[in-house]
Amino acid sequence: MKVAVLAGGVGGARFLRGVVSVVDPLDLTIVGNVGDDVEVLGLHVSPDLDSVLYTLTGLADEERGWGRADESWHALETVAGLGGEAWFRLGDRDLGLHLVRTELLRSGVPLSQATEQLAHALGLEAELLPATDDPLRTFVETPAGTFPFQTWFVGRGHRDEVDAVHYAGAPEASAAPGVLDALDSADVLLIAPSNPYVSIGAILAVPEIRRALERRSVPCVAVSPLVGGRAVKGPADRMLARMAGGTTPAHVAACYEGAIDVLVVDEPVPPATLPGGVRCVATRTLMTDLEAAQRLAASALDAAGAPR
Ligand code: GDP
Ligand code: CA
Repeated sequence: MKVAVLAGGVGGARFLRGVVSVVDPLDLTIVGNVGDDVEVLGLHVSPDLDSVLYTLTGLADEERGWGRADESWHALETVAGLGGEAWFRLGDRDLGLHLVRTELLRSGVPLSQATEQLAHALGLEAELLPATDDPLRTFVETPAGTFPFQTWFVGRGHRDEVDAVHYAGAPEASAAPGVLDALDSADVLLIAPSNPYVSIGAILAVPEIRRALERRSVPCVAVSPLVGGRAVKGPADRMLARMAGGTTPAHVAACYEGAIDVLVVDEPVPPATLPGGVRCVATRTLMTDLEAAQRLAASALDAAGAPR
């Protein structure tokens, strides 16, 4: 059974840890978000791809939720001491990967191939693809102005409310090689409990990817990133409240209109089918440990009617 998962960073990676324990990783394709990518200190950083990569290869710092375990910060301390750009936290081990990726990109290798090379070297079994090789960057419009995603998220600690999200470059972007094949040939499509706007929204902003989901002939199941109407971490609930008008399952489902058949939520299921004919399924979705992530992945596959 072939499975394709759209995933952002931390929520995506936690969920994928469950997915690879119930699905053969060789049958799994992960389509990752690149709207958060950022150039810092001359390096190309792909935070969401790296969260997935580090988590699935056992290198992630589970407690911090991002970056690598057993990390040190000497390089960044040096940068700060020299008055360099130190607002974006990059550990020493992490920096090594960004050096290699940046070198590959600079020599003309597309991001998808660079990612494949890094994933292979780290022993990732599943296929990890960036949504696109083309430049696609997420911007948020706030009362304090419009900011590149990481300037708002990390630099300003996502303190500003968001009125709108833009995906610069998305209309012209093509899906990265392998993405459309994976989506078209999957037996089940899953959307991880990632931020609907800034993680999944940036993937679906690639027109070919949205169309592939809209023409799907197999079930697509999304897992809500909200537990009882609240984000486990980060600004997803505030964004939904302000931009979608609420944080109920119907508001989450509306973010994925036309792209999903089932929404898995962690709250009582609304009495009626959600708008767009989306079926709602309730289960515990808090991924406190591997077992919980595994149970959630199994529930999502069950909700798709997938044999296991
Ligand atoms: P980011 O790119 O690192 O910000 O991460 P994602 O977009 O992939 O995931 C962020 C979302 O994950 C947040 O909205 C959280 O509410 C959600 N999230 C994190 N842990 C859990 C969990 O255990 N269960 C559920 N349902 N959502 C989670
Ligand atoms: Ca992200």
